[in-house]
Amino acid sequence: MTLEQIASCVSGYDPSALPVAQAREFIARLVPTVSGTESVAIRSALGRVLARDVISPIDVPAADNSAMDGYALRGSDLATDAPTRLRVAGKGFAGDVVGAAIAAGECVRIMTGAVMPPGLDTVVPQEFVQLDADSGGISVPPGIVRPGDNRRLAGEDLARGEAALRAGRVLRPADLGMLASLGQAEAPVRRRLRVAFFSTGNELRSIGEPLPPGCVYDSNRYTLWGMLQRLGVELLDFGVVADDPDALRHTFTEAAAAADAVITSGGVSVGEADHTKQVMAQLGDVLFWRIAMRPGRPMAIGRIGDAVLFGLPGNPVAVMVTFYAFVRDALLAMSGAQVEPLPMLRAACTSAIRKKPGRTEYQRGIVSRDERGEWRVAITGSQGSGILRSMSEANGLVVLHHEQGSVEAGGAVDVLPFEGLI
Ligand code: AMP
Ligand code: MG
Repeated sequence: MTLEQIASCVSGYDPSALPVAQAREFIARLVPTVSGTESVAIRSALGRVLARDVISPIDVPAADNSAMDGYALRGSDLATDAPTRLRVAGKGFAGDVVGAAIAAGECVRIMTGAVMPPGLDTVVPQEFVQLDADSGGISVPPGIVRPGDNRRLAGEDLARGEAALRAGRVLRPADLGMLASLGQAEAPVRRRLRVAFFSTGNELRSIGEPLPPGCVYDSNRYTLWGMLQRLGVELLDFGVVADDPDALRHTFTEAAAAADAVITSGGVSVGEADHTKQVMAQLGDVLFWRIAMRPGRPMAIGRIGDAVLFGLPGNPVAVMVTFYAFVRDALLAMSGAQVEPLPMLRAACTSAIRKKPGRTEYQRGIVSRDERGEWRVAITGSQGSGILRSMSEANGLVVLHHEQGSVEAGGAVDVLPFEGLI
């Protein structure tokens, strides 16, 4: 689909005042999913995207087993109004299988995880049992257990043939454990997404270089590196590119040929004097948006060759906010991941915030619990889009939604916590 066709699918599309939700919808339609899968050892699969459903080849657990250390017995032997006396006929430890039939009135000493002996369906925890030293038997007080208690059933975690994990899952520690519990040494995963990134601007200097008057150190490439690293993509760093048409053309061409996505920062504002926008438009199919958001209004989006282009604004906070608002989910979708909405906290804002409906604002905040254990959020100092410190001090983004107006002190706001996101 051309960008024009995509735009026609997004209702009320207006590139000069695009609401965040519509920009997200546009991008979701734009990005392709990479093809290519590989099989990796499960310890190398953490954070990777599962390429297909994993079907359980076995019942987990494989057999009925005890959930407690105690005595396995036959539920039908339990008396309801008097102690039940049982003879201890044997022992079953974890890993043991008691094969012999157990007669009525008998029980088996059993440990957690041990397979239930044939015919026995109930486990009484050892702390409820009285031992009879003379007979070597036990006595179970009435009402302590009901038939079927403290027994784990075969296939209770997972039945054979059932999908243990679904394609598109970004694998977490529990999933690695699940794969291991199925006896799988490897996981089928999608190939890693290749993402090229670079900074544009004549005023930028790389760390290690002297800083002449009027220049700033390039911080965006480090912020971006960090954010991309957390997504587990393969990174291609193309450095700082000066405001020179040939240099820009060369780098955009190389980056687009090498990567699935190209992310740049700087040079996309309206009235920008440099050549970045011009070269983007020349080499690819690119739109220049003004998004109804703060920070992060200008952004370029489109394609150069087969790569998706995200031309982010230059301001350091705007880079991070636009990355989390648009790029993160887009890259996850490209990686084949099932993208789930990020959980937000509802917190009382400690100060009033003035805001007009009609744009989304992302303020940097510090969330904590108050004396009653309720979430509250304090806005960090200056909210200028160039002030990276506001982002560094914060532990979450206060999201003031498109339609939302001003917030009173103590009013509830949505907060996107960095934990888990960053
Ligand atoms: P621009 O969008 O290119 O007009 O940049 C907006 C502001 O962000 C300017 O003050 C730039 O100096 C600053 N800026 C752009 N790129 C970077 C970068 N990579 N690192 C730090 N600041 C930057
Ligand atoms: Mg610039």
